[in-house]
Amino acid sequence: MLRLSGLKLPLDHPAEAMPAAICERLGLEPQELLGHVVVRRGNDARRKNAIQLVYTVDVEVADEAGVLERFAKDHDVRPRPDTDYRFVAKAPAGWQGKRPVVIGAGPCGLFAGLILAQMGFRPIILDRGKVVRERTKDTWGLWRRAELNPDSNVQFGEGGAGTFSDGKLYCRVKDPRFLGRKVLEEFVAAGAPDDILTEAHPHIGTFRLVSMVEAMRRQIEGLGGEYRWQHRVDDLELERQGDGMQKLRGVHLADGGFIETDHVVLAVGHSARPTFEMLHQRGVHIEAKPFSIGVRIEHPQSWIDRARYGKCAGHPALGAAAYSLAHHCANGRTVYSFCMCPGGRVVAATSEEGRVVTNGMSQYSRAEFNANSGLVVGIDPERDYPGGPLAGIELQRHWESMAFVAGGESYHAPGQRVGDFLAGRASTALGEVVPSYKPGVTMTDLSRCLPEFVLEAFHEAIPVFGRQIANYDHPDAVMTGVETRTSSPIRITRGKDLQSLNVAGLYPAGEGAGYAGGILSAAIDGIKVAEAVGLSIAAE
Ligand code: FAD
Repeated sequence: MLRLSGLKLPLDHPAEAMPAAICERLGLEPQELLGHVVVRRGNDARRKNAIQLVYTVDVEVADEAGVLERFAKDHDVRPRPDTDYRFVAKAPAGWQGKRPVVIGAGPCGLFAGLILAQMGFRPIILDRGKVVRERTKDTWGLWRRAELNPDSNVQFGEGGAGTFSDGKLYCRVKDPRFLGRKVLEEFVAAGAPDDILTEAHPHIGTFRLVSMVEAMRRQIEGLGGEYRWQHRVDDLELERQGDGMQKLRGVHLADGGFIETDHVVLAVGHSARPTFEMLHQRGVHIEAKPFSIGVRIEHPQSWIDRARYGKCAGHPALGAAAYSLAHHCANGRTVYSFCMCPGGRVVAATSEEGRVVTNGMSQYSRAEFNANSGLVVGIDPERDYPGGPLAGIELQRHWESMAFVAGGESYHAPGQRVGDFLAGRASTALGEVVPSYKPGVTMTDLSRCLPEFVLEAFHEAIPVFGRQIANYDHPDAVMTGVETRTSSPIRITRGKDLQSLNVAGLYPAGEGAGYAGGILSAAIDGIKVAEAVGLSIAAE
């Protein structure tokens, strides 16, 4: 099989145009092409009047060696890579060793648990939150009744932070072993639509994610793994060794329970603030790392579709349009769009009382009225929070509390029309755009809950973005704040063996540890860490 990439066809091409285009591209007679399978489909919308679909296809030809020789210098014609997943270790039949513990049932913990279970190591998976259906009720409690459950919400519980999301499944991490493919295949086996295997920018949406994490739970349990809900890990049992090292002996739970183990995958996500504080107290090596803060911005999806696709807006092969923007400002800051959710809604994403945090989600259909995305500014420890490893958390808490106050102390988000923001006045009413955030939006002045340099950067970037996406800077577009949980404010640094630098047996993983950003990269990291744990147990 050959892999041919960058094959472009018109938006409305008939099915038979594909083999003809392959033959033309590879200089083949029709009878020399034995078969083809689409492995990826994206689009090139740079010319709005001539949008093209861009394919990667696996192609079977009569003379593969000859084609490869003729196209030896062409990077778009290559032998098909081997994308099959192979386990690096397997437990002996009837293995009865000390079971590994996974803390956190988000995408990272879920995949760490799945791979450990598939290798035969019967992991115990602990999560402070609830099983997904009960968690959904608690999450809606905040959105519908302004009632927050600090242990069961958008951030905490089965499926982790990605459960109530757009379910975007792409990332920019290097993936030479095609672990991302393993993740997508497991998701499809658990009920995700097949098209996630071929779409260049796949997404799942919230409702499907809920039933998928349930299906994966059944698989893990069927393989001897075990979940324990509402089991918050509050402490680690560590044994001092020489040269500043400690050795992990087990985990202490909030209810007083103790689990003895030699291997812990720590996949607690970026909002596990009390856990980060505990790790710091226990001397686990932690560093502050850069992240971003800002707001969500909403426009009608039809504006974005028209701006991106012109007269092709609404074409079924294109779906709801997305965008990605970045601008380097005169004040040295970079403003960029983050986690764009076409046809979705802005959601209340706090996990702590008295704070307001925004994020975005959508359903698979992406059919809701508004588009939303984060509009954020990168910040870093040296310049913005130099007070030690946990100073970024204090900064997040400060602005989230200010947003709570600006929203009226009722979990309403503070909001402002773009026109008012650029004119430097508070908003008192909505215009054409109705924000989707629930339980509600209080129109105000966002300068009450954002640092000065962020406001300054937005003033410069929003008109620039308006020249790239028509109506991005429309006066009625609505911004709601604050977006502070863009990634982890810390890194729990690990060595080459993926263990903590100074605690043997502790495997920091996923977004909270600073090794992933998003569902797919967190899941990939979960696989890598599970492999490291599997190899370590197998070597005992
Ligand atoms: P998490 O998913 O955060 O999971 C951590 C888990 O650990 C939680 O279930 C928590 O309850 C548990 N936990 C924490 N502390 C403890 C403790 N002490 N004891 C026991 N359990 C504990 N990413 C995308 O790629 N695409 C998207 O479309 C997207 N949309 C998003 C929308 C929203 C609303 C949010 C909040 C996030 C979104 N993200 C999206 C980001 C994505 O969800 C995260 O990057 C991803 O979930 C990180 O995975 P993780 O497993 O590392 O951590």
